[in-house]
Amino acid sequence: MSEEYTNPATIVLHTGHHGDETTGAVAVPIYQTTSYQFKNTEHAENLFALKELGNIYTRIMNPTQDILEKRIAAMEGGVAALAVSSGQSASMYSVMNLCRAGDNFVCSTNIYGGTWNLFANTLKDFGVECRFVDPASPSSFAEATDDKTRCYYAETLPNPKLEVFPIREVSDIGKSFGIPLIVDNTAAPIICRPFDHGAAIVMYSTTKYIGGHGTSIGGALVDSGNFDWESHGDRFPSLNQPDPSYHGAIWTEAVKPLGPIAYILRARVILLRDVGAATTPSNAFNTIQGLETLPLRMREHCKNAIMVAEYLSKHDKISNVIHPSVQVGNSKKLADTYLKGGFGAMIGCELKGGMESGKNFIDALKMFFHVANIGDTRSLAIHPASTTHSQLSTEEQLQSGVTEGYIRLCIGIEHIDDIIADLDQALALA
Ligand code: PLP
Repeated sequence: MSEEYTNPATIVLHTGHHGDETTGAVAVPIYQTTSYQFKNTEHAENLFALKELGNIYTRIMNPTQDILEKRIAAMEGGVAALAVSSGQSASMYSVMNLCRAGDNFVCSTNIYGGTWNLFANTLKDFGVECRFVDPASPSSFAEATDDKTRCYYAETLPNPKLEVFPIREVSDIGKSFGIPLIVDNTAAPIICRPFDHGAAIVMYSTTKYIGGHGTSIGGALVDSGNFDWESHGDRFPSLNQPDPSYHGAIWTEAVKPLGPIAYILRARVILLRDVGAATTPSNAFNTIQGLETLPLRMREHCKNAIMVAEYLSKHDKISNVIHPSVQVGNSKKLADTYLKGGFGAMIGCELKGGMESGKNFIDALKMFFHVANIGDTRSLAIHPASTTHSQLSTEEQLQSGVTEGYIRLCIGIEHIDDIIADLDQALALA
């Protein structure tokens, strides 16, 4: 059976697995094993020398994980993917794969707080500098670039402002310097394919929409195969110089028989080997269950979110609704350019009554879950000023887009009437 599917709805169900070869099992099996029997010493030697690709040890690869990777790579239009234990490890690996102590990378200021901490503090302690720039001005990426800059990093649809990142504009700037753009597409799977707009690497927290059911932490990196690491050899010593930890392998050359997978292969055989943020076979299985209905769920999430944004826009206790469907000007232009088939399911709204009103609203919700998470099938809500952003000063909160009455909603796939009924009764008490 051909696996050249192009439709995401088919890819997520069929790519990489059409019945288990041994048992005929239709669902992807959980290969709960740490290690794999080699056929003979020659086979083992070939696997270790990467003359042949195959299973060695589950810290580095696993057949359940492999199917998840193939499906995510195909869905994104990439050449290969790497599943890891969390979104955090995916963002860490995405940068570590290119940067060494003394190097820098340029990052949008509009990113998830956990990524911010990792880049601004932890990576700094390891000698890698993150230069934050305002994505509203794509040229700021060029201004922050020097000959030690190894990559650009941004999120497609970052909350709380929900302003879509100018992927094409910044990836074009990157290409003029020979610098790849890494995009965290966690909030916009299916509705945005960053590779179609020039991004080189995509990363996901699969914990969110891809897993979808709030059961399993996970992350993934996807390689577009479209970035020419060799032509910019001096910028990427980790991929173009002999690797002393792998018999002097030069990754851009070692992959020649395998395809343009230097980036993802190095992430697997060096970073996963050495740092070991491997996903478990059962979490890979859970994530596959989510992935199989992702296109269907994203449709429902996005449809419900548009209706909620409309409802909130008309409510007299709400002063402002933040969702790409109701944006205007350049923000709307970016949303229309980069999001297809929906505007995502995160919505921000500001309650006129400020802090007290925001807290009352959250406490009055009956069906929505009050959690610090996004991308669940169920509807979720949080009041950032009293929780996720409470350690910031009022000024810092405002800079990040959080006012005292700001509520973040993440609209689920329940029936729209029940979603609006819950919001309605909570707003009456806010
Ligand atoms: N990227 C984004 C956009 C996120 O929202 C999160 C988590 O909330 C992460 C990365 C980190 O993912 P994880 O919690 O799976 O480590």
